[in-house]
Amino acid sequence: MTSRRVRRPCGALQFPAKPSGWGHRGARRAAPDLPNVQAIDTLTPCPCGNRAGYTHCCGPLHDGAAAATAEALMRSRYSAYVLKREDYLLATWHASTRPDHLKLAAQQPAPSWLGLDVKRHEERDGHATVEFVARLRYGGGKAQRMHEVSQFVREDGRWYYLDGEIRA
Ligand SMILES: [Zn+2]
Repeated sequence: MTSRRVRRPCGALQFPAKPSGWGHRGARRAAPDLPNVQAIDTLTPCPCGNRAGYTHCCGPLHDGAAAATAEALMRSRYSAYVLKREDYLLATWHASTRPDHLKLAAQQPAPSWLGLDVKRHEERDGHATVEFVARLRYGGGKAQRMHEVSQFVREDGRWYYLDGEIRA
């Protein structure tokens, strides 16, 4: 089983080449294919809750850097839901369980993501479990909790989301 083919399933929008100056404080990239990137680059805290801010947390991962841990990948996937980066969610989803699409843009009512709380992170032999609670609201509805225990696997130095089990 190779993970090589899962990295760019969506073609053009996925993972631009790493520009020089990438990841450094104050770096600002022009990215004409992502109209909101200027605003996204200045997100502090990061959508995942990290006070360091997006450019020092999930941003580099969304740009193609490998997540050091499954928890970091999980946080970046939460941020990708916030930012509707369906391309990133699919690229970090293991090929064996990955859906064809998520249709995030068409989701009605659209969820508003309110916060993330990582409860547990265990890693062993290239497999990891991350338990988290995400808070969200659909449309004008009331806030609800999504409690999930997610499984991750590492292949060729990259972590991939396998599946998750929703807890009550
Ligand atoms: Zn983050």
